[in-house]
Amino acid sequence: MAIAEFDLIRRYFAVHAPQHPFNQLSIGDDCALLNIPVGHQLAVTADTMVENVHFFADADPRLLGHKLLAVNLSDLAAMGAEPFAVTLALTLPKVDESWLQAFSEGFIGLAYQHHVDLIGGDTTSGPLTLTVQAMGVVPHGKALLRSAAQVGDLIYVTGPLGNAGLGLKIHQGYACVDAEPVLRCFNQPQPRVAEGLALRGLAHACIDISDGLAADLGHILESSGVGACLQWDSLPLSRQVQDYIEHSGDWRMPLTAGDDYELCFTVPADCSRLLPAGCHCVGEIQSSPGLRIDKAGRVETFEAKGFEHFS
Ligand code: ADP
Ligand code: MG
Repeated sequence: MAIAEFDLIRRYFAVHAPQHPFNQLSIGDDCALLNIPVGHQLAVTADTMVENVHFFADADPRLLGHKLLAVNLSDLAAMGAEPFAVTLALTLPKVDESWLQAFSEGFIGLAYQHHVDLIGGDTTSGPLTLTVQAMGVVPHGKALLRSAAQVGDLIYVTGPLGNAGLGLKIHQGYACVDAEPVLRCFNQPQPRVAEGLALRGLAHACIDISDGLAADLGHILESSGVGACLQWDSLPLSRQVQDYIEHSGDWRMPLTAGDDYELCFTVPADCSRLLPAGCHCVGEIQSSPGLRIDKAGRVETFEAKGFEHFS
């Protein structure tokens, strides 16, 4: 017999009492009740993943659960917000209990790692669509905005670029030596929550890299009314991405492929030694608008657009 809707929620999603002290009342009533500490602002974001648009129909449900939450926590990290609660709206074509078990383990496992509670949601039937709304707190006025970059700031990223893009190509049939760590970047991105918190009071502008560094840094440049120059030789690229570029000639890939979920941020030049471990300086904010890249002394303009759903 098919499992009833609330039994499904209880079995797969209401599996823990709330862990985080802000979450007074969680799944089970008409609304959850959250207590936000005085002097803080609530940071809220939502992201949807649709079958055949954001993931393959045969995607491993455990990885999907992880990634769905990871992309939302990444947005909070990019604001310098501390995540504490999420809601989950699930639209399912059918009730597949082994799919739900694995999906919820991937989702709840990552939530647990970050002390985030699943506090509510909605469950409906229809084409497979997964939506998360994530909430975090940030001390009043301390959020890291896209609009705060200043001329002379250095531009940093929290980790390697292009691994997720290469992971997608491997899924699509590209043969790569030592593919496993690259595939992990694509399938199981780690949201840079600790780095985002460490950047409060230090970074000027910040964004998470979901559409490729060029497009996402482009959002900072536009919001801040500045330009930038990247240094090709300073980009952190894995051995596998370097080999891919050598074979294909496609040097733009690590700047234009999506799904890396590293943070890109700008800081005053004298802050470098205060930054979290693993950050790489990749360029500089300049007054002249637009994005440029310096390849061994030759500066060229870099045009990049992110993924557009309606074009
Ligand atoms: P209502 O009809 O009042 O909206 P629902 O029957 O949709 O209530 O949901 C009952 C409870 O279960 C609510 O607390 C809701 O937030 C929660 N809930 C529903 N679907 C999910 C889900 N997929 N994940 C987590 N909580 C859920
Ligand atoms: Mg409902």
